[in-house]
Amino acid sequence: MEVHAELLTESKMFCRCQVGFGGEANTRVCPICLGLPGTLPVPNRRAIELVIKTSLALNCTIAMRSIFHRKNYFYPDLPKGFQVSQYGETNPLGYKGWLEIPAAGGGFKRIGIRRVHLEEDTGKLMHLPGGGSGVDYNRAGVPLMEVVTDFPPDITNPEEAKEYLVQLRQILLYLGVCDGRMEEGSMRCEPNISVRPEGAEKLGVKTELKNLNSYRAVQLGTQYEMHRQVALLEKGERVLQETRGWNEGSESSFAMRVKEEENDYRYFPCPDLVPMQFDEPTIERIRSEIPELPLAKVRRYQDDFGLNSYDANLLTSDQSWAKFFEDAVSQGANPKLACNWMNSDFVKLLNESGQWVDGERVRTKVTPAHLVDLINLIEKATISGKMAKAVFDEMFESGAMPSKVVEAKGLSQLSDSSAIEGIVQTVINNNAEVVANYKAGKQGVLGFLVGQVMKESQGRANPTMVQELLRKNLGS
Ligand SMILES: [Zn+2]
Repeated sequence: MEVHAELLTESKMFCRCQVGFGGEANTRVCPICLGLPGTLPVPNRRAIELVIKTSLALNCTIAMRSIFHRKNYFYPDLPKGFQVSQYGETNPLGYKGWLEIPAAGGGFKRIGIRRVHLEEDTGKLMHLPGGGSGVDYNRAGVPLMEVVTDFPPDITNPEEAKEYLVQLRQILLYLGVCDGRMEEGSMRCEPNISVRPEGAEKLGVKTELKNLNSYRAVQLGTQYEMHRQVALLEKGERVLQETRGWNEGSESSFAMRVKEEENDYRYFPCPDLVPMQFDEPTIERIRSEIPELPLAKVRRYQDDFGLNSYDANLLTSDQSWAKFFEDAVSQGANPKLACNWMNSDFVKLLNESGQWVDGERVRTKVTPAHLVDLINLIEKATISGKMAKAVFDEMFESGAMPSKVVEAKGLSQLSDSSAIEGIVQTVINNNAEVVANYKAGKQGVLGFLVGQVMKESQGRANPTMVQELLRKNLGS
C-alpha cells in the first residue's frame, strides 16, 4: 500500500509559495516551483521534521544522513520535468518500521512499513469547460510524504487494507502532520494487488490502483481487483502489470498504463540540494513531541477504565473527542458512564446539529464539567436516567449546568420514602380490583401499579423505591 499525504506546512517544499486547497488556478506559484531556469530550491525544515516525526511514530529507523533524488519523467503536470523525491532502501528519512491494526479475530496485527520518504506534489491537469486541458500548478511543489508498506505484504485482504488506512490516518491526525482530508486529496491511497493459488508461496503479477480517495474506494477497489485477477487466471489468461484507475460510479477498475519499471525514472541525486544530516538531540526533541497514539489510548482505556474495545475505539477515533473524555474523567466523572453518554446521546446531538467539541465545526456549549455534573446527579439518584436525557437535551441547547436545569425545572427525583408511600397508598386505594388480582397471585400487574405511581408523581418518583414500597404495602 502506498499512501501519499500532503504535509501541514505553511509554505511549499522548496519555495515560499503558500500551501492551500482550491482558489484560482496558478496563483500560488513562483519561478522555483515552476522550475524556471536559474532558480535554486531551499528545503522546508518543518516538512522534514514532520516526516521524521511520522517515521518515529511508525517505529522506523531514521536515516541520520539522507539525500534528495530527481525522479525523471515527462508529464504536463510536472513543470520541471522531474520530481524531487527520495530513492533507495536506507536513504528515505524513515525505513523498516511497522504499525498495528486490530486483527479480525481479536488482538492486533503488525503491518510492516518499508519506507517513509519526502517528495514534492505535482500540479493538477484539468479538463476545461470549452474543451482541451489546462494545468493548475498551485499544488506543484507542495510537501508530500509517501508511506509504503513492506514486501512481501502483510496486508492479506480488503478489510485489512481499509483498517491499515484507518489507523494510519488517525496517527497522521494525532501527530498533526496531515489534515487527512481524503476527499480533497490531501491523503491518497494506492493499493498494489496480487493473488496466488491457495498454499502457493509466490505472489502473482500485481496491479496498482491509482489515487483512491476514500476508505470505501480502497475496500471496494481491492476487492474488485482481487476478483478480476482470479477470474482472468481461472480462464487461463494473464494478469498484466499495469496501473489502473477506479471508476467510483460503476465500481470497477480500468487500465490506465503499463507500469513503469524503476529504471525508467533514471533516479540520480539532486545536485541543487545539500545532503540532510541529523543529530541525536534533534531526533529526541522530535520524538518528545509525539503524543500518545490512538491504539495506545485504546489499550489504556480498556486496562484502566474497563471499557470494551468498541467503546474505546469510538472514543479515540478523534483526538479532541478522546481529550473531552479524559478531561471529564480527570474532573471526577465515572469513566463508564461518561463513555456511555458520549458515545450515545452526546455524539447523536453533535452530529444532528453539525457541532463538535473542538476544531472547525461550531463548538458545542457542553464542556467536560457539564458531563461531570450530570453524572453526579445520576449517581446521587437526584435524577433518574430518563430525566437525565431531558436534562442533557436542555444543557445541549442552552449550555446551562445540569444542576441548574434540575433546580430551575423542579426536576429532582423524589427519593423521600414518606412522600412516595403517600402516593403508593392512594394508588392502592384507587385500584382495588388490580390489587385483588395481584393478591390472587397475578404478579404481572405490579408493573401497572408502578406505572400509576410514576404517573401520579409526574415521573419524579425513584422507580426502585416505588417497587419496594408497593411490595411492602401489598404485603408481599
Ligand atoms: Zn513557488
